[in-house]
This record gives sequence, C-alpha cells and structure tokens, in this order.
Amino acid sequence: MLNIENIRKDFPIFSRKVNGKPLVYFDNAATSQTPTQVIDVIVDYYSNYNANIHRGVHSLSQEATDKYEQARLKIQKHFNAKHSHEIIMTSGTTHGINLVANGFSSFLKKGDEVLVSALEHHSNIVPWQMLCERSGTTLRVIPMNQDGELIMSEYDQLLSEKTKLVFVNHISNALGTINPIKYIIDKAHSFGAAVLVDGAQACPHLKPDLQQLDVDFYVASAHKMCGPTGVGMLYGKEEWLKKLPPYQGGGEMIAEVTFEKTTYADLPHKFEAGTPNICGGIAFGAAIDYLNHIGFDAIESYEHELLEYATEKLSEIDGLKIYGTSKHKTSVVSFNLEEIHPYDVGTILDKMGIAVRTGHHCAQPIMDYFKIPGTVRASFAFYNTKQEIDALVEGVKKAKAMLS
Ligand SMILES: *Cc1c(COP(=O)(O)O)cnc(C)c1O
Repeated sequence: MLNIENIRKDFPIFSRKVNGKPLVYFDNAATSQTPTQVIDVIVDYYSNYNANIHRGVHSLSQEATDKYEQARLKIQKHFNAKHSHEIIMTSGTTHGINLVANGFSSFLKKGDEVLVSALEHHSNIVPWQMLCERSGTTLRVIPMNQDGELIMSEYDQLLSEKTKLVFVNHISNALGTINPIKYIIDKAHSFGAAVLVDGAQACPHLKPDLQQLDVDFYVASAHKMCGPTGVGMLYGKEEWLKKLPPYQGGGEMIAEVTFEKTTYADLPHKFEAGTPNICGGIAFGAAIDYLNHIGFDAIESYEHELLEYATEKLSEIDGLKIYGTSKHKTSVVSFNLEEIHPYDVGTILDKMGIAVRTGHHCAQPIMDYFKIPGTVRASFAFYNTKQEIDALVEGVKKAKAMLS
C-alpha cells in the first residue's frame, strides 16, 4: 500500500495553485512531475561538481564522470541489460528512434519491408518514413480494432522474409493500450526481423526486463519517469550497436582523428558525440532510484485502481465516450463529450486548476481511425488521488453544462 499523502509531500509543485485552485495534474503522459529527491540532485550537481566529463584529469571532472557512469549502471540494472555499454544516453525517446532509423538506412534496400503499428506516436512514425524514402523500403501498418488494440492475426499476415524491422510502442500514449510486445518480438525474430520498442509511455508504469523480452532496441525518456527533460536512453543489443554506424560525428565519439581517417570510439561512446546532458543523466539515475523506492508493483496496482475508478465515474456522464477500451491498459483515459470540441473542455478544466491534454496527442493516425479531431486525455500517476478524479468528474460535468 502506498502512502499517497506522504508521497505527495515529495513533490513541491503540488503546493501551488493554478487559477486560484489547487493543482490537479493529469497530464502525466506528456511529462511527469519531479520529486525533491531528483531536484536536490540537480541542485547538487550545479552547486558542487559541475564539470565536463570523460576529458579532464582534474577532480571535479572525475567526480562528474563517476556520477554520470553510475547513472548508466543504474539504468542498466533497472532495465536488466546485459552490458552497461548497451545503454546509450540520449536526449530522449525521439533522439533514440532517430539514431536507430538513421543507422538502419545502411542495411535496407528496395523491396525490403518495415512494419509500424497503427498506435504509434509521430516520433515512431516519421523517422521511419524518412528512412523508407531514402532507402526505397516499404512501410506497412499493423492495424488496430475499435478497442484500440493491435490485431495480431493481421500482424502475422504482414510478416514475411521481406520484413527487416518492426517498431511498436510498449504502451500507447494516446489510448493507454499495453501492446503484446513479447509476442510481437518473438514472432518478428522467427522471420529474422529486428524490433524496436518505444517504451516512453511504459517506463513510468512498469519495469521492463530487456533480456527476458529479448528486444533489439528499446527507448525511453527520463521526463516521463520523474526525471528531467532532455535526457533519455536507447538500449541496443551489443551485436546491433556494433553494426550500426554512428549517428552524429564530433568529440567524445572518436578513437583517433586525422584528416585522412577517423576511427570511432568503443560503445557506448560511439553514439555519444559532444557534451551530453550530464546533470540530466545523473538526475535520470536519481529518478530511477526514486521510482524503485516507491516500488513498481505498488505503482501498477494503485494506478490500476485509479484507472478503474476514473473509467467508472466518467462513464456515468451522459454523452461521454471513452476511446481505448482494451482490457490491457495503463492509467490513461481518453474521452470526448458528444458534439463538444476537446479543446473547449480542456480550457474550462484549466480554469478549475485541472491539467489535462487535448488534441491528437502526436498520434493523428489514431484520431483518423476514430474520425475525431482529438480527445481530452487524463493520464494518472501514482501521486494522484481519487479525490482529484472526483474533481475532474465535477469539472467535466460543469464543462458539459456550459458548452451544450
Ligand atoms: C512522449 C512519447 C514520445 C516522445 O518522447 P520525447 O521525450 O518527446 O522524445 C514517443 N513515444 C511515446 C509513446 C511517447 O509517449
């Protein structure tokens, strides 16, 4: 059992008001809030050991390097990667996907196929489209059903010897659907295809075991896991990372440079050109510590309780339709009120201090499927409460009365 009252004290932001009302923060799928335990690490870095890493012989630089590499080890352990050099520090999920997509262009040729799911975030669609344009590869889409679930029989049909790569999110940010990634990975492997899983939306809610999943690439962002913005991780199996060409050239990623030829650094540095977000990386490690201290089993069961409660209460509102009705879902409720634009609902909720997201959630193909311009999305984290959900339900009722 989580002591939510105590947990909320870790988050300074919950003591502020928005538009004169206590903040109700239900935009966790866009970014999570930051606990004091992580903020303190950021302040400590800039107050006490701010220095560039991996280069200096001086003490500060070594301290910063040690802390940064410790963070990499924390990430490795958390995700159960076999080697720490399989963890590439990135600026976030988008960066990780682009790094892999860019590298893959040297492996793909005309006639090859790559599969994307209908449930993807734009950041897991557009880089692959750009890749397909460059390489003449065909992009195929794994379709979904009315519940917002990928149709696995169709996936089976799409796979063939031509399939080189499958990319799918672990959890949909727009609908909350948890995809059957173990099945997707194993099936792709039986055709010799590699799999990239976008874990941005999963990692705040569960703890993936990357060796057990046997996934080829997995990406995540710290800012959805109680960490800072602008930092994330790409996991790649060693064999893949060795084969992939570097993404960006620069300092840190080289072994030796002459004007005739440059040799690249070993993993992970081959993919880490330039000065990274040092403080962010260290704070990412602190965020992982914080989440593990709360405990993912407790997080999962409490968030499920919040999801069931919100689904039940919101469903009682006449004319409210929920999109994404899979049984396998995390704490995201995407909905619309009949005949009312989601933006108008969001604006009224904001006046009451309730932060939700409105729009297409960077997943326009999903909105097109349901033939809607967007939804109102309330996404819950372990620090939210049922009382806050009550406030949301009241707010939606008020919005409905004002707008219809
Ligand atoms: C948030 C999100 C992204 C993008 O993450 P960035 O941190 O903006 O790079 C990609 N995919 C999914 C599923 C997301 O939820």
